[in-house]
Amino acid sequence: MSTYEVLNPANETVVRTIELHDVASVDRVIDRAHEVGDAWRRVTPADRGRLLRRFATIVDEHIEELAQLEVANAGHTIGNARWEAGNVRDVLHYYAAAPERHIGKQIPVAGGIDLTFYEPLGVVAIIVPWNFPMPIAGWGFGPALAAGNTVVLKPAMQTPLTAMRLGELALEAGIPEGVFTVVPGGGATVGNRFVTNEKVRKVCFTGSSPVGKQIMAGAAEQMKRVTLELGGKSANIIFADADLEKAAAGAPYAVFDNAGQDCCARSRILVQDSVYDRFMERFEAAVKNMKVMDPTSTESEMGPLISAGQRETVRSYVDESLVAFRGSAPEGAGYWMAPTVMTSDGSDRAFREEIFGPVASVVRFSDEAEAVRIANDSPFGLSGSIWTRDSGRALRVARAVETGALSVNSNSSVRYATPFGGFKQSGIGRELGPDALRAFSEEKNVFISTEE
Ligand code: NAD
Repeated sequence: MSTYEVLNPANETVVRTIELHDVASVDRVIDRAHEVGDAWRRVTPADRGRLLRRFATIVDEHIEELAQLEVANAGHTIGNARWEAGNVRDVLHYYAAAPERHIGKQIPVAGGIDLTFYEPLGVVAIIVPWNFPMPIAGWGFGPALAAGNTVVLKPAMQTPLTAMRLGELALEAGIPEGVFTVVPGGGATVGNRFVTNEKVRKVCFTGSSPVGKQIMAGAAEQMKRVTLELGGKSANIIFADADLEKAAAGAPYAVFDNAGQDCCARSRILVQDSVYDRFMERFEAAVKNMKVMDPTSTESEMGPLISAGQRETVRSYVDESLVAFRGSAPEGAGYWMAPTVMTSDGSDRAFREEIFGPVASVVRFSDEAEAVRIANDSPFGLSGSIWTRDSGRALRVARAVETGALSVNSNSSVRYATPFGGFKQSGIGRELGPDALRAFSEEKNVFISTEE
């Protein structure tokens, strides 16, 4: 096994050195997950629910520890990190109720009785990116375990610590050894082995679109099931009839939360001509007021980027764009960058590509049709917002925008009780919501003849 130094992105110090799995050791973990699969699927639905509730309770007792670990490992603000740990607890609670409600059908047919069953897939592999290590892990392992699968989970190299701790807490909760195992390691070794190992029956991947495409191609070899949650370049569409104060006050957080390292970041801001100047004035004030500072402070609204490399990539987009204004950021150690707003005519690279940093591009539009055209002129379709007081327009535009998770007069995209996922190159499949277990089950149809 090789080792990896996990860094604190706010000050560049080493948080911990961890051991990385290689292909041989990940195979042993998958073998174990496969061996214990039969026993886990036979745990009664009520008992599986009880174990998940206990897991949720233990996570709840460790919210502060998990949150502090995420601040040190990922540079998330303490406020966000507490929410993220709480989200793992809530997802576990929500899906703890699911095993007893994973109900098949009885379908009227001639000559007998027809029943459907939801069967677990077997070993499910979850691959997590570095931007939201806890919630994205939970959205996978919560419903996957509830549906009776065993789970192997690979955190991102840069951010393994909270996932590793969650693996320990699952054992404390009484989830049997081998049912949920966290396997830190590289994408090309552990991640790729999840795709090629035949005992893994599904890969649930969240990450960049290029790696997602590679995983889909690899999975095709064995017709392995995939859920892919990929990149985004979401539009924040502000119509002239909107509550402009509210839209402008919320716009910085809609893109700069988590330093813009958010697949749902509304990084394309579309503003109707007639209110463009008024919006920009208010938006500038809001951006300049953002508290970009030490993420351990409860006042902090934005922390650093995850790595020096990520900051370089983000800066390269800014260098070739027209900057309208900037917020502030600390100087010195840490991968800090000030929130930056650029203007665009819609044709530049910064407006079209996912940047994954604290930068936003603003473009003007004249009418509803043009707003929809610009919003849809993207290979991505993950989230987005529409700001208007006209409810007819809100619904028309919401139906016309090709994206998976939209908000009207709000910038929130994610609730554990509602489905989440992307159109187009933002992914395949949905996570969360009442139907999440379907993505971790095979539907089996059984016909029983009643003929004499
Ligand atoms: P990434 O694709 O580089 O890595 C994601 C994960 O895949 C990591 O764990 C990585 O080690 C692993 N990986 C890398 N190469 C692999 C391979 N060949 N085979 C298997 N696994 C491999 O993405 P990232 O830079 O960690 O995360 C940022 C990206 O994630 C952004 O594009 C962002 O939009 C996307 N994202 C999407 C969502 C969503 O829900 N749609 C949520 C968060 C992040």
